Amino acid sequence: CASNAKFFVGGNWKCNGSVASVRTLVDELNSGVLNSGVEAVCAPPFIYIDYVMQHLDSKKFALAAQNCWIGGNGAFTGEISAEQLIDFGVPWVLAGHSERRALNGESNEFVAKKAAHAVSSGMSVIACIGETLDQRNSGSVFKVLDAQMQALVDEITDWSKVVIAYEPVWAIGTGVVASPAQAQEVHAYLRKFCQAKLGLSVADTLRIIYGGSVNDANCKELAHMEDIDGFLVGGASLKGCSFVTICNAG
Ligand code: PGA
Repeated sequence: CASNAKFFVGGNWKCNGSVASVRTLVDELNSGVLNSGVEAVCAPPFIYIDYVMQHLDSKKFALAAQNCWIGGNGAFTGEISAEQLIDFGVPWVLAGHSERRALNGESNEFVAKKAAHAVSSGMSVIACIGETLDQRNSGSVFKVLDAQMQALVDEITDWSKVVIAYEPVWAIGTGVVASPAQAQEVHAYLRKFCQAKLGLSVADTLRIIYGGSVNDANCKELAHMEDIDGFLVGGASLKGCSFVTICNAG
């Protein structure tokens, strides 16, 4: 961890859980002991946010939504706006997760506009980027990341409210974690990109976190890499003790 900011760990519960399992997970998380130097955030499905807000220890874990609408309130059936999330007391939101890019056709520009709207509404955003396996194999990792980052740079005006999650698509939910060297190479590249586009002080304090098959066994080694400032965790965030271990890896 190199940047001059708190180690950051997000738990993305995705479309998982039931009333019963969420209750169990919240109890497990509440019984965990977190290092004082970590900022931990949980992103339950919308339908469980109210329960989690009432019961999860807010001194340990902040709340995130997994998505929000690109703009404000209005005739957008099935959507939830950043304004509503703020009103409800949810400070964080994910934007651009690869599952939404792939399954909902969210483009770089759409993701960037959504992230910028959320930031301007007062939310903090975990903006996700990352290449597919084909893109890595064809040598276009940095080209893909440049385009994803540039779209964000073009839209977002307050970078103090942003965490960048580098999540190679080939590592998400596959059990194939990026090696510490592979992840560090990309994180260092992203930090340089931010230095050039946003200036030294933003690049220095911006958290660049890694996601993709992070678990309690591989988190320590990744966390030691210079430019890895935390994690975005999917599967392992559904087990309270694993998630707490990952939170404490920084
Ligand atoms: P995973 O998911 O940890 O299950 O690979 C990470 C993510 O999608 O954020």
